Amino acid sequence: MSKFSAVPLAQPIEVFELTRSYNEDNFINKVNLGVGAYRDEHCEPWVLPVVRQAEQALANDDSLNKEYLPCLGIDAFSKAATLQLLGNDCQALRENRAFGIQSLSGTGCLRVGAEFLHSQLGCSVFYFSNPTWGNHKLIFKNAGFTDAREYRYWSQSSRRLDFKGLLEDLNNAPENSVIILHAVAHNPTGCDPTEEQWMEIANVMEARKLFCFFDCAYQGFASGDLDKDAWAVRYFVSRGFEMVVAQSFAKNFGLYNERIGNLTVVVKDPAFIPHIKSQFTLVIRGMYSNPPSHGARIIAYILNNPDLYEQWKLAVKTMADRIILMRKELRGALERFQAPGSWDHITTQIGMFSYTGLNEAQSEYMVKKHHIYMLKSGRISMAGLTLKNIEYVASAIVDSLT
Ligand code: PMP
Repeated sequence: MSKFSAVPLAQPIEVFELTRSYNEDNFINKVNLGVGAYRDEHCEPWVLPVVRQAEQALANDDSLNKEYLPCLGIDAFSKAATLQLLGNDCQALRENRAFGIQSLSGTGCLRVGAEFLHSQLGCSVFYFSNPTWGNHKLIFKNAGFTDAREYRYWSQSSRRLDFKGLLEDLNNAPENSVIILHAVAHNPTGCDPTEEQWMEIANVMEARKLFCFFDCAYQGFASGDLDKDAWAVRYFVSRGFEMVVAQSFAKNFGLYNERIGNLTVVVKDPAFIPHIKSQFTLVIRGMYSNPPSHGARIIAYILNNPDLYEQWKLAVKTMADRIILMRKELRGALERFQAPGSWDHITTQIGMFSYTGLNEAQSEYMVKKHHIYMLKSGRISMAGLTLKNIEYVASAIVDSLT
């Protein structure tokens, strides 16, 4: 009898299953709107030219070696990443109350941050938006959180933020709960609070003594402007909140498989920082010991060189603009084809995703009948659309609704 015989088969991860089925599909006009990864106008993955340039420079730098990095990563990277997020006129940075830790993309930052909050601050309740990115719950549970709760976010009937429900749920949250907030370009709904709404969220979080954990995976993808997309995080910092922010560079640097992210930590008093860093060191030491160097070196090289930094900003804008154009084109095609209902949410939503409003049966029909791969929730990645496939997708949506 094998020790392994009782291991239950886990549910497959929906988005990876979708990509696998897409890759196996021989249908000529198949479209992958599942995975949240940028594609160019020919539907190809895009390595940013500025990243290639940095990689070439690093490859020619004989002073670089393959020694272990420190547990908290490369300082030149985490400093530049933290500054990029918090901005040049950040008071917390001037007062040395903010610092960064290199970790394994957004996921690693979330996991390391959550384990620290659980083990050092005694947090055990966390709140995630309903709906949210499929991995939040698993990450926080694995980090030791025992009480997973939802806050209302999306109203299916109005296809808008359920702001009243959101505030009510936060108001009822117990003190010291960790609230996961999508910093920008909410996944999956593509719908963010307005600046005024963020201010009200901050009021409630302050009054109820809730801890904010920002998840910043799409900075730049909402507006094309990195500073504008950092507004919510910077606002909370300016209000004096202590917080952590998981910053992913998968999307905005196109470094998906390099697993590079920065966990920004903001505290009230710099005197606490050596203690905090020492505990993060233990969390990381016991999890993966130390991070890989390649992505961090690329980003440090770019962010610390003003010309390359500008090139990066332009590349981010290129990606955001293409997605915004695809929104306009998709809505236009749906309206031309007289798809039933209103489609203005396609252009009012922001970031990489659109929450189409298609239900589970309709979404599955899109996959099975039309070979258009999308999540059961009706979420589509706008980056999978091109001027070539958009009419095919729009006509399939019409067919799935009628
Ligand atoms: N948060 C959200 C909301 C995401 O959508 C993603 C990526 N899908 C991540 C975090 C983390 O991704 P990664 O670990 O690849 O940086």
